Amino acid sequence: MITRSRHAVQIIDADTEINKPSVSWQTQLKDAIRTPEALCNFLGLDNSVWQTEAQEGHALFPIRVPLAYARRIQAGNPDDPLLRQVLPIARETDSIQGFISDPLEEAEHTPRPGLIHKYHNRVLLIASGGCAVNCRYCFRRHFPYQENIPSRSEWHNTLEYVHQHPEITEVILSGGDPLLSTDDRLAELITQIEQIPHVIRLRVHTRLPVVIPDRVTEALCQRLSSSRLQRVVVLHINHPAEIDEDVISAVQRLSSAGGTVLNQSVLLRDINDSVAVLATLSERLFAAGIMPYYLHVLDPVAGAAHFDVPDREAVELVDELRTHLAGFLVPKLVREIPGRLSKTPLY
Ligand code: SF4
Repeated sequence: MITRSRHAVQIIDADTEINKPSVSWQTQLKDAIRTPEALCNFLGLDNSVWQTEAQEGHALFPIRVPLAYARRIQAGNPDDPLLRQVLPIARETDSIQGFISDPLEEAEHTPRPGLIHKYHNRVLLIASGGCAVNCRYCFRRHFPYQENIPSRSEWHNTLEYVHQHPEITEVILSGGDPLLSTDDRLAELITQIEQIPHVIRLRVHTRLPVVIPDRVTEALCQRLSSSRLQRVVVLHINHPAEIDEDVISAVQRLSSAGGTVLNQSVLLRDINDSVAVLATLSERLFAAGIMPYYLHVLDPVAGAAHFDVPDREAVELVDELRTHLAGFLVPKLVREIPGRLSKTPLY
């Protein structure tokens, strides 16, 4: 039988549809789309020129798209805002002045492998060296993960740095995507962090509940809910079409585990650079139990210049957004500037 979901057209066996087996998040990760051809075929985009162009960007930063996310892309539409976030294009090979491999100068703030200390009372742990989806605009698309992921035994040394810095009250798990780690590994890491008396808060930056909602497992939620730490989960959603029923259900599970759920977006040319899209995004986030938090302007990373929206245009957009939304639904427009002790508001 052929079903047309809100976006994609799929051919599904009737028995499979009725008795849909639950597929583990690990299997969904393994089955993610990993070539431009496979994604174009899945979406009925069979233009050979398109596929050839996609190969050039793919060679620099490989495509990776879980099916749960690909199903939200409108079939046959090369301009779909979700597709544009994940499909490589030839322009990623352009060399543009000011767009560099480490735009946030993170290498200078890495006192131990896997630990970034840029802001006074927070540290960021690189808990995983990959993501379930490779976003084309990612500021860490050139990050040397291999040099920065401590082995299990090296984590002790990395966390010792947090022990030695009583000013650190918040630990942020990042990556890559920290939820790419197994539930057991995350539980172990959370236990190690809980043993540092001055840490009061655990923050998890993740896109996995958006691209594979089944990643929000019962074991994960139980471990979060039993922690002595305050829990904050910061999702990354850029467009309202990324929020479907499965994502809403995953967010409910995270909230039930006692986590405050926030969202940060990146302002992206031809994806969400309009008042209508941003207003709908904020409304849909709030309805799903997620508070709009940050709207980041693009970090100038090599390969992503075509997504850039100039600061002045971004400020005008958010100014107008204020006239469409209640104040608490307007995300803070910010830029990260290397060397600053916090993100820089743009208004
Ligand atoms: S999920 Fe986040 S860290 Fe991973 S590729 Fe996308 S933007 Fe980068």
